Amino acid sequence: MLRVPHYIAALSPYVPGKPVEELERELGIKESVKLASNENPIGPSPKAVAALTAHVIGGLNRYPDGGGFYLKQKLAARLGVKENEIILGNGSNELLDIAARTFMEPGDDAVMAWPSFVVYPMAVQAMGCNAIKVDCKDLRHDLDAMADAITEKTRIVFIANPNNPTGTYNAAEEFDAFMERAPKDILVVMDEAYYEYVTAPDYAGSMKHFRDGRNILILRTFSKIYGLAGLRIGYGIAGSSIVEEMNRIREPFNTGTLAQTAALAALDDDGHVERSREVNEEGKAYLYAELERLKINHVPSQTNFIFMMLDGDSGELYGRLLQKGVIARPAGPKALRVTIGLPKENKAFIKALEDVL
Ligand SMILES: *Cc1c(COP(=O)(O)O)cnc(C)c1O
Repeated sequence: MLRVPHYIAALSPYVPGKPVEELERELGIKESVKLASNENPIGPSPKAVAALTAHVIGGLNRYPDGGGFYLKQKLAARLGVKENEIILGNGSNELLDIAARTFMEPGDDAVMAWPSFVVYPMAVQAMGCNAIKVDCKDLRHDLDAMADAITEKTRIVFIANPNNPTGTYNAAEEFDAFMERAPKDILVVMDEAYYEYVTAPDYAGSMKHFRDGRNILILRTFSKIYGLAGLRIGYGIAGSSIVEEMNRIREPFNTGTLAQTAALAALDDDGHVERSREVNEEGKAYLYAELERLKINHVPSQTNFIFMMLDGDSGELYGRLLQKGVIARPAGPKALRVTIGLPKENKAFIKALEDVL
């Protein structure tokens, strides 16, 4: 047996779901409804698809632009930051990992809310560090309790805003108060994967702290509203010295040619973003109304998914929905997370839910 560090041996590998095609074959159904991974139901940005021309594809023998020159240039102009204040990642997932590997050493702590994104404890524990989980309060990040949990050993605080799997958010004012209390020498990772879906007027405010020179890494992604989850690309915004440190261990070619090309085009596809938002808002209103009718407890969402609290076991409900061809996601022993889909997908979900309850 090869020796494996005890903290690696303690991790459970991520169990991927079956490919949808395989599930359909097993269940003998033509069209399953996948509402498990918060993907954009209307598809990728058409401009992104159109940008993946034969010319680009014909160049796949070449390594990608490791510096992501054009994409960083466009993002920088959009965001009003400098190019050296952006880091690209193979999905924003990779940037969570790079942040932990860059700024933590074995034995350090990272503070995070719970329930929150499962990748945070993975990234931290893979470094031989401790994930300090602070219970959500009313399913929202309890930023006061999180500030209380910071000690000498804390190197990173992970905040998902809005949060996954709950869909809740913290207002700018609350975040300001947290930053007031957080020590200046720790990194605050502000994960804003659902940024473009948020409608709450008192949201946002992380950029202000970046501009104030605080040690903050703001993460965004092309996987959600831009509909490019399959290509794996996201980005981080941080002070140039943070980006520089992270670049020491970033794989030189961590984002591919197709991903960079598609992301560049998607940024110009305002129509697709607008349509995605509309479909999401309509679907959200429909699902709220139906869940109310079915008397299923659920949480107001600032994202493209809805968190619901059940009376029964979520794994069991998940299994029964699966038999009906609907893929949702258990989000705790008695909670289910469902992605807001197209109107017909939302209907199929509600019908399946009514059937199995
Ligand atoms: C989906 C999601 C991400 C984005 O992951 P990618 O690697 O960019 O696909 C990051 N954080 C949270 C909380 C998410 O839900």
